[in-house]
Amino acid sequence: MLRDYPLPTTHYPLPTTHYSLYVHVPFCERKCGYCSFYSVTGREHVSAWLGAVDREASRWSMAGKIPLSTIYIGGGTPTLLTLKEWDSLTAIIRQNFDTSTVTEATCEANPNSLTPEHLAFLKASGFTRVSLGVQSLNDSELATLVRLHDSRSARNAMSLVKSSGLNLSCDLIFGIPGQTLRTWDYSLRAVMECASHISCYQLTLEPGVPMWEKWGGDDLNYSGYKFYRYAQYLLPRHGFAQYEVSNFAPPGHECRHNLAYWNHSDVVALGPSAVSYADGVRLANPRTLEGYLAGDEAEREELSPRESAVELAILSLRTKWGVSREGLLPEIERAISEMPPDLFVFTPERIALSRRGMRLGNAIWSEIIGL
Ligand code: SF4
Repeated sequence: MLRDYPLPTTHYPLPTTHYSLYVHVPFCERKCGYCSFYSVTGREHVSAWLGAVDREASRWSMAGKIPLSTIYIGGGTPTLLTLKEWDSLTAIIRQNFDTSTVTEATCEANPNSLTPEHLAFLKASGFTRVSLGVQSLNDSELATLVRLHDSRSARNAMSLVKSSGLNLSCDLIFGIPGQTLRTWDYSLRAVMECASHISCYQLTLEPGVPMWEKWGGDDLNYSGYKFYRYAQYLLPRHGFAQYEVSNFAPPGHECRHNLAYWNHSDVVALGPSAVSYADGVRLANPRTLEGYLAGDEAEREELSPRESAVELAILSLRTKWGVSREGLLPEIERAISEMPPDLFVFTPERIALSRRGMRLGNAIWSEIIGL
């Protein structure tokens, strides 16, 4: 077991005095069939949103520019913004935050809206990564997901990112109705050729998403299990170590921004539905664009030390580094000791999920949350 998951003796190195910045770009050309992220269709309100992001960023910088370690522009579809709008957004970030300490900056992109001009702009502005929503390289699966792109445009976008010199991360979805191990293998191998980071997500459908009517009652969880196992088998054999429940990368290419979330580090999040976290306080921005543009207050939630400890344990257990035993609540350690031991890897200092544990993560977390 330890051979599969060599545990470092220390936690991953993240500066604790720096914040991570997330900006939510809540615009999409059309809703994908499975999507429950917050976004609106069309670009009608882009300039009003930019104005509101500017106001929100200014509030954060009232006491001085906050030093950043990572930046992540997500959505929605950030590549729906024009270069002029990108210029305004990056100017807002530079005016309000200290970006001299940034070690990683990521932009999410969709294959149908990413252009060479976007990539040249991102590169010139100091971005280091593009996270591309490939989802599948099979046309009929992409049609089932109601995506706007086909496999050809996904491959084209992957090549564009690769030749731009930016690091490429690709998102893939498994458990798609009609998907086979053969098509999954094809998608995995194609992204491995270009990407230095791969995220594999199980298709889940919330009531109300466009695919719900046709597929909502199906047991997608069950049908996804074999695909997940296959990714756990194939990707590490090609150098992509599983470093988190959904994420695979060669050592050194882990997404530092997401590691900040799993390490419960401080995050400033701008935009509608974005959630900031600092010093044990969570601030949830208004969920809708209307509320955000109207200047509605963020919801403030102060976590008790116990709540913070439970959250940190759950978040850290998502990663291959696991949770430190020092400071771990005794009831969590006891609950873990009562679960099947092959779900975990134990060292004197840390507890992490085994490969099997990663497959059954949801059941493990619900045990811990229920304490
Ligand atoms: S592009 Fe992303 S955020 Fe937009 S609808 Fe599709 S999945 Fe949702």
